[in-house]
Amino acid sequence: MTRTHDFKTCQSSARTSVKLLSMRMPVHNSIHGFARAARAARHSSCMTVVVAVLGAVSAHAADSSTLPTLVAPAARDQVEALLSATSEVPPIPAATEALPQIPAKAPPQAPGAAPASVATVPPADEVSPPAASVAPVLPALPRPSPPPAKQLFGAMTAPAQLEARAVGSYSRGCLAGARALPVDGPAWQAMRLSRNRNWGHPDLVALVEKFASEARAYDGWPGLLVGDISQPRGGPMLTGHASHQIGLDADIWFTPMPDRRLSAKEREELSAISMLSPDGLSVDPKLWSAERVQIIKRAASYPQVERVLVHPAIKQALCTAAGADRQWLSKVRPIYGHYYHFHIRIACPPGSAGCVPQKAPDNDDGCGKELADWFVLLKKPPAPPPAVPAKPPPQITLDELPPECRTVLEVGIPRPVEPQAGRGLNPSSAALVGAAAPKKLKTKPSGQATATK
Ligand SMILES: [Zn+2]
Repeated sequence: MTRTHDFKTCQSSARTSVKLLSMRMPVHNSIHGFARAARAARHSSCMTVVVAVLGAVSAHAADSSTLPTLVAPAARDQVEALLSATSEVPPIPAATEALPQIPAKAPPQAPGAAPASVATVPPADEVSPPAASVAPVLPALPRPSPPPAKQLFGAMTAPAQLEARAVGSYSRGCLAGARALPVDGPAWQAMRLSRNRNWGHPDLVALVEKFASEARAYDGWPGLLVGDISQPRGGPMLTGHASHQIGLDADIWFTPMPDRRLSAKEREELSAISMLSPDGLSVDPKLWSAERVQIIKRAASYPQVERVLVHPAIKQALCTAAGADRQWLSKVRPIYGHYYHFHIRIACPPGSAGCVPQKAPDNDDGCGKELADWFVLLKKPPAPPPAVPAKPPPQITLDELPPECRTVLEVGIPRPVEPQAGRGLNPSSAALVGAAAPKKLKTKPSGQATATK
């Protein structure tokens, strides 16, 4: 095994572990899992990272059985700094609901000695409590660069219990008071549940439910398969989508809902069907249908819907099918992709101060020059790849989102594990639970605070 390989394994383990730390997992599970991964990687830098994580835990954890969500950014900062030796960042694996229980036993000593500047890793049993007994001596760190906002928001598993509000713009913002679209409804099923992106502004979720029922009642459409909406607190995502950040965008598959309840596995693996012909310039007449025209027209008919995004070939098919009633076509805009699903975007809802609206679409049907220009683009041969690969754009950080998004990210601490008797949160942590909202974002009155999946 090469050292590089070892270190990459370690990086990946470290990031997974930090992600787990932010996911309400009991501390000892995460630490055990992490220590085990670090030992397997047999790399002293990994042990350094373990020490950093332990330091973050001991410095911030207030309860011995659960870890406040707010520890995550601190831990991540430290881990990011320690991992800065290489620039290649393996993706964080998708969230797992259940982590196997690892029996509480002390890890054996690492084969390689820990760097001289760090303390020996204590047995995991000693991780908690008390914090002071495990506080390791941390190496002096360079000021860490802030983690990308997508890591912070991507780690959130529950909504911010605040009054519902879309904050910022469709591709740079966050979402307070999200509601989950139930994974099963009378006329819809949510797909790709492992992504946990079935959260939206309550107005959008209500609209999707109404749309599903009406498409079934009036358009001969058996029901909607609903793709991504937003993360529990909106924000940038680890994968896919520039928009979908403020809970006002939803993807609806062109594949109709089957007449049975799909299993969780099927919802992960079922492929959507492309509506395009092999040339990519027209819809496949064997697949395209009057019902699909009807449901897009219905989506566009709702006053709160501002845009319906589809592939140019689909827009062309709609222009052809529309007949004399063409008003609704102005909201249906062509864009790359969007031939497996269409995308509904609603306007900033009432009460969402700080939601940045889009320009209203032009009033014409969009079937003329704009669409013709799209086909010129689509027919252009692809440009040769640049000699020097383009640098990836910098990642959006939390500081680059509207300031309220920090509150949205940090407010409340989801705690599925009840604190044991006599072992409550300390006052400083208790203050974080649901009480950290500044004036501008009001917490929900109790009783309507929970949006469940
Ligand atoms: Zn979309």
